[in-house]
Amino acid sequence: MAKILVIAEQVDGALKKGTLSAINLAQQIAARVGGGFDVGVIGSGVDGVVSGLQGFGAGAIYKVDGGGFAHYLAEPYTVAVKALAEKSGASFVISTAGTFGKDLLPRVAAALGAGMVADCTALAGDGADLLYKRPMYAGNVIATVRAKTPKVVISVRTAEFDAASPSGGQSPVETVSVEAGGGGARFVSFDGTESERPELTEADIVVSGGRGLKDGKTFWEVMNPLADALGAAIGATRAVVDSWEEVPNDMQVGQTGKVVAPKLYVAVAISGAIQHLAGMKNSKTIVAINKDPDAPIFQIADYGLVADAFAVLPEFIQKVKAARG
Ligand SMILES: Cc1cc2nc3c(=O)[nH]c(=O)nc-3n(C[C@H](O)[C@H](O)[C@H](O)COP(=O)(O)OP(=O)(O)OC[C@H]3O[C@@H](n4cnc5c(N)ncnc54)[C@H](O)[C@@H]3O)c2cc1C
Repeated sequence: MAKILVIAEQVDGALKKGTLSAINLAQQIAARVGGGFDVGVIGSGVDGVVSGLQGFGAGAIYKVDGGGFAHYLAEPYTVAVKALAEKSGASFVISTAGTFGKDLLPRVAAALGAGMVADCTALAGDGADLLYKRPMYAGNVIATVRAKTPKVVISVRTAEFDAASPSGGQSPVETVSVEAGGGGARFVSFDGTESERPELTEADIVVSGGRGLKDGKTFWEVMNPLADALGAAIGATRAVVDSWEEVPNDMQVGQTGKVVAPKLYVAVAISGAIQHLAGMKNSKTIVAINKDPDAPIFQIADYGLVADAFAVLPEFIQKVKAARG
């Protein structure tokens, strides 16, 4: 029998839906090795997050709620996760593999003396013999790894796991008191991007633009109306964010950017380098618009349009608008 602790990802009191994918993995592990899972919520003013996590079958929801945790910082959060893992008696600690998990979880693993499975995409092995699948080399190789330590910390590629479905019931909520402590880092400010659009990693539809869109000005002239018509988030290639200052780095999709797996991904004037594909190839439906018929993006696209994006997009957008009413 194992105890599993899922650390919820939240920002300003809003639950990130990737947490439900982490719960899915926790449920799968519990089904394989026996036992159950608890959820840990860390932050300031997180009662809404706790409520949103009711009904998923957690044995307990542990809450660390205080001013010292209002802004994410790896050092105090590690102290809190370690305290919650000890409270829960967890041998597995699971969270999301985005920016939050990438920063936090290796530190948690070190603090717990645990092995670390990063970017888990699926379980393998039989019964209680747990093996984990994870991508390597920009997703060109899938490794199957075993954790040899009694405790394991796992970051979950949320695009690979469906969100857990609520099963009903109420989990007891317990407040755990943790001192945020000093640590070497101090929160100064958070300069987030203000956007009306859905967030890139959470959006059902993503439209991404590449270097074929000429420059930063024309990038927005093309991508904004397309995203408006589809109600989409906007992404970009690394070539774009590196070259054009009008397009911020946090829009980069790919191996060294964000990993997305929306229902629909529209790649506009993107060649399809493996490093870009690593961040989007698990999208459910991929549409590519590129004027070069030999562009590698067409090898993974479900629908391809060989055309000059500037010439076809106005009509494309009009048709999307007409179809969506
Ligand atoms: C270690 C490492 C990590 C990397 N990480 C990432 C990453 O995370 N994400 C990422 O994206 N890249 C990453 N890269 C860079 C990657 O290798 C490519 O250079 C980059 O993805 C290319 O971007 P692009 O498709 O916009 O540009 P290009 O490769 O220059 O492609 C532009 C495309 O636009 C088409 N085109 C031109 N004009 C038009 C038009 N008018 N209409 C339609 N099509 C047109 C062209 O036919 C071409 O296919 C990484 C590279 C390295 C070495």
